[in-house]
Amino acid sequence: MENLSKKEITDILKDDKQNDWLFSYADKIRKKYVGDEVHLRGLIEFSNICKRTCKYCGLRCENRNLERYRISPDDIVLYAQKAVDMGYKTIVLQSGEDEFYSRDVLCKVIEKIKELDVALTLSIGERSFEDYKAFKQSGADRYLIRIETTDRNLYTKMHPHMDFDNRLKCLKDLKKLGYEVGSGSLIGLPNQTIESIADDILFFKEIEADMIGIGPFIAHPNTPLKNEQNGSFTLALKAMALTRILLKDINIPATTAMETLNPKGRIIALQSGANVVMPNVTTTEYRAKYEIYPGKICINENPSQCRGCIEGKIKSIGRTISTNKGFHNKKI
Ligand code: SAH
Repeated sequence: MENLSKKEITDILKDDKQNDWLFSYADKIRKKYVGDEVHLRGLIEFSNICKRTCKYCGLRCENRNLERYRISPDDIVLYAQKAVDMGYKTIVLQSGEDEFYSRDVLCKVIEKIKELDVALTLSIGERSFEDYKAFKQSGADRYLIRIETTDRNLYTKMHPHMDFDNRLKCLKDLKKLGYEVGSGSLIGLPNQTIESIADDILFFKEIEADMIGIGPFIAHPNTPLKNEQNGSFTLALKAMALTRILLKDINIPATTAMETLNPKGRIIALQSGANVVMPNVTTTEYRAKYEIYPGKICINENPSQCRGCIEGKIKSIGRTISTNKGFHNKKI
């Protein structure tokens, strides 16, 4: 199964008659290679300011209808401390591409968070090799940067003024520097083909990704894609299940976007190949403002409610919460 061809992947993606088999097979592979533990990553969305104009994203700088915020470096560390006190073993720092957070500013934040004895993941977009190197030296362990789509033409249409090759270079640089590297894609972008989704999955294998996050595209009213259809929950789930089957032992989150389209989305994802959840650990005041897409879940909840809620759901399906840092434990 690990050597599925593009044609085979495409056929599975197109044929919904095989879905039940696909999801239960992915669940079996998940159990065999990463076990029943679910890793919780505490997500801090520390700035919604972004210099980019990604057509699908509500944080794009041309969206003037969004109240912008930045969390100060000291407060980022404070949120991390609170998350660690709650039991999180990994902190994820995510933001728009906001140059206020210079190399030096971020290095200091990273160093302080690493004193808390946690794993640290960055998800802050494209930066220079020198920045990535400095963040690594300060202690960052992992980096998430989705390729979004491997269809070059579609990538170019979706990302004005950005360069597909630079996205690839970032992934390569991060690997070279010794990060655990996460990538992923959006499912259901306008004019995205099923064949290109098969290419995405093969790409994840080719780059030897340590983590893959896959979520449906959700149309945001203040973006150029406002009139487009949302992506399909089922198709995103299928792409995720196939990723588990091909990459086997990597870490795969049940993404928040999945739960936005289906009230049980994350639990269904955890039973179809996923083994990670990333609850938000910032206070309620920022949540609604980090509006990548509309209908984001948990925007009225506080960090401890989120933790309690997701713990309950995970236990209800017979899974356990991991007490370790949840690195990629290579088995293949
Ligand atoms: N600026 C960082 C973090 C981006 S936000 C970066 O460039 O990596 C994290 C992810 O949200 C993106 O990679 C994208 O795949 C997803 N996202 C953005 N807009 C979305 C939308 N409208 N629907 C679903 N997911 C979206």
